[in-house]
Amino acid sequence: MVVAGVVLIVLALAVVVLAPRVLTRSAWTIDRPRTALVSWSVAVLLGVAGLVAGIALVVLANRPLTDPFGIGTSASHGLNVGVAVVAVLAFAVAVRVRPGPEHDAVREAMRSGAAPHREIAGVPVAVVEADHALACAVPGRSGGVLVSTGLADQLRTDELEAVVAHERAHLSQHHAVAVGIAESIERAVPWVPGARAMARSTRVLVEFAADDAAARRLGRDAVRRAVLVADGTSALGVIRASRLER
Ligand SMILES: [Zn+2]
Repeated sequence: MVVAGVVLIVLALAVVVLAPRVLTRSAWTIDRPRTALVSWSVAVLLGVAGLVAGIALVVLANRPLTDPFGIGTSASHGLNVGVAVVAVLAFAVAVRVRPGPEHDAVREAMRSGAAPHREIAGVPVAVVEADHALACAVPGRSGGVLVSTGLADQLRTDELEAVVAHERAHLSQHHAVAVGIAESIERAVPWVPGARAMARSTRVLVEFAADDAAARRLGRDAVRRAVLVADGTSALGVIRASRLER
């Protein structure tokens, strides 16, 4: 039991150390963002499950399987286990990264009708009156896709459809969940070198994945032109546009 536990812990640590190296230094992740996102999830599952199972095997070795924590022998043991479980749950709740206040503002704009809806490529899109270029997707029942007039007015029809397809892909591929989990892990264990790399990588990979989904519908060129108008001044925008050139 102890040997098996130690082997599991070592394997889990190997995953935690190696996965970020493989997933942040490989060119294929730029071309296959969805595979890379799945690989991050698998690495996290293997790392966490391996560590938990390994530590459990080591700690619980030579304890009776029917009552490993000795709860039957002393009430205080049960209390300790309960306190430990509550502490772990409280920590998980405390580090959870929630969507920012801008999501609430978007929801409110959509619910109140402050942003009139327009049908773009068969999708109802809330269009807000604003000078700056803005497009976003808010998940959930009261969510949806929102673009600003400042962006819509600068785009040709196919470019605007590309923006909407990009935002729709964020919703259908549940990118907010992927980013939320990665950022929560970064907050929970900022001292694990791979945690920060995963959060950073996830935020970029979801943009690539959404661009690819939009490109499948409207062609790479329309998406590339839309990215240059909407986000051409940021470093990520330039990278997104250049990978769509190939
Ligand atoms: Zn996006």
